[in-house]
Amino acid sequence: MDIEIQSIDNIKGKGLFAKKDFHAGSVIFEEDPVVCCQFSWNAAYGYKACDHCLRPLETAEENARRLSAKPELHLPYPNLCHTDKSTITYCSLCGIHYCSTKCQTTAYNQYHRTLCFERKSDIDDHPLYQLNEMWKQMHYPPETSTIMIIPRILATIQQAVNPEEAQAQFLEFCHRTVNEDSKIAHKFLGEKFVDQISTLHNLLVKAMKPDGISHFLTQEGFQTLIALIGTNGQGVGTSAISEWVTKSLQQQLSPEETVKLDQFIDKLYEDMDSHSGSFLNNEGVALYCLQSACNHSCMPNAEATYLHNNSKLSLVALTDISAGDEICMSYLDECTLQRSRYSRNKELGENYLFTCTCPKCELQAHDPNVTSDEEEEDDEMDDMSE
Ligand SMILES: [Zn+2]
Ligand SMILES: [Zn+2]
Ligand SMILES: [Zn+2]
Repeated sequence: MDIEIQSIDNIKGKGLFAKKDFHAGSVIFEEDPVVCCQFSWNAAYGYKACDHCLRPLETAEENARRLSAKPELHLPYPNLCHTDKSTITYCSLCGIHYCSTKCQTTAYNQYHRTLCFERKSDIDDHPLYQLNEMWKQMHYPPETSTIMIIPRILATIQQAVNPEEAQAQFLEFCHRTVNEDSKIAHKFLGEKFVDQISTLHNLLVKAMKPDGISHFLTQEGFQTLIALIGTNGQGVGTSAISEWVTKSLQQQLSPEETVKLDQFIDKLYEDMDSHSGSFLNNEGVALYCLQSACNHSCMPNAEATYLHNNSKLSLVALTDISAGDEICMSYLDECTLQRSRYSRNKELGENYLFTCTCPKCELQAHDPNVTSDEEEEDDEMDDMSE
């Protein structure tokens, strides 16, 4: 391993440190998630991905046709599409699709044996179905998490050969619901969401057998799980069309062909934008052991990417990193990262329960505690989607 987890102090806990030098652009490490789940609306809107690893199940051409609502569209260089539809398989009981029998078997042995429910006329009555529907009603796109990762966590513990070990692995993730020092509680556990949380809790209790997980099914245990996914959940995005675009732009083409390709891609993105807006990717949330130890900085030196077009995470260096340096990523999206210190820390406090002390925040420590009008408007529209 070229990195290590070290404890820093009582406030920051642990962090990820480089054991060798990394050049900007290089891959620091790669890891598969402990558990991953597609977002609820993303699946409902027909974004076709492997239920286990989120690999696209459409060809790039099918993907482009659906997102642009142009069923006649033809992609040049179809051989650059990496979707292999011949390996796609599905669960014969519930119909869920996987990219391969490997994913199907892994999912079944890890959690799906517990969570599979047959597609019958009374599917609407199944508490797992209701849990997903309730979450969707409470949480409109843009999505940042899904409650459906929680049954996967619990079923993973129940199906494990050694359930205590499996549970300990999940409790390694930060799962505090309140930061006592700073007196911040996770925003999902605030007054605004009391009714929602209790509705979701009741449905989860109905959905899961309590064997070995009863302490997670109490109100307090459920809050722990909400805080765990809220503070550690990492967004995952995969896309057949963006993989095709990347590959097609890497080709050696004549100047004329390059111009033609550029124009084709510009027009395609215009069409996809007008039909699907910014929702182009298969999206979900996942928990990663190493990445979850990576602290936030408003001046990150690394970022999470999905170079394999599935849920395998690659942490890539954004700047040159020297041995001994702490490796940090940004927990905030591009847009929020550009906002004032006050706004950034409001977001970090509500979602991740800490106040940032990165060099940029230190430098801006004496800036006034204000949000711009635009930010206040956004705040009013705030709901569980943030
Ligand atoms: Zn898969
Ligand atoms: Zn099934
Ligand atoms: Zn900062």
